[in-house]
Amino acid sequence: METTNGASRGDAYAAAREAMVRYQLQRRGITDARVLQAMREVPRHLFVPPEWRDEAYEDRPLPIGEDQTISQPYMVALMVQSLGLKGHERVLEVGTGSGYQAAVLSRLAAKVYTVEYFATLAERAREVLRRLGYDNVEVIVGDGSLGLPQYAPYDGIIVAAAAPRVPPPLKEQLADGGRLVIPVGDALAQDLLIITRHGETYQEERSVPCRFVPLLGQEGWDAAC
Ligand code: SAH
Repeated sequence: METTNGASRGDAYAAAREAMVRYQLQRRGITDARVLQAMREVPRHLFVPPEWRDEAYEDRPLPIGEDQTISQPYMVALMVQSLGLKGHERVLEVGTGSGYQAAVLSRLAAKVYTVEYFATLAERAREVLRRLGYDNVEVIVGDGSLGLPQYAPYDGIIVAAAAPRVPPPLKEQLADGGRLVIPVGDALAQDLLIITRHGETYQEERSVPCRFVPLLGQEGWDAAC
């Protein structure tokens, strides 16, 4: 049954979700209790196309249309955990896709702005987020490679698509002490970077190797190709 905050306890997929948390997340070092709880609650199967519903809790990305994918559960948990959210933050996500990661973020931060390049995907995500009651998420259609200056600064920024380099506007839109999580590399392989802002200094840490769909737009592959 769905509740107003989107938590679905006792639905047909609750056991699959619990197994996902235990075997895909906890075993691989996801330790933040709030992140684990959010992943236990958000009904991932409602964010994938109906024909993929039974695969929703498998250890991989799935197609969502427009040649795009919903990220692997572990990658969502790792990126979100990397932001170190406590609950009061304003977060920007670049690449709404299905809206799933935005829903997870909405459980962990005060406000989530998420930008999607394709209006079709944004519309679908907006509708499922509204239906499930995730009302602290705002979906905006646009080129998120430029960030979202109108609501900056952000305590956390997650980019869910692979960038050729770190887009300068995203660094500029970080609050002091804020973190940016972004896959950077070429089209086939990237490293997940975690960048923390201290005043005008940016500290960069390399997390895991990963593979995301390409970041489009001005600071994405449009300009690089
Ligand atoms: N976070 C998503 C996964 C998204 S996959 C989820 O939970 O389902 C990456 C998404 O980034 C795709 O939907 C793609 O259309 C979008 N994207 C790519 N370049 C973008 C850009 N410049 N601005 C906004 N969205 C972009």
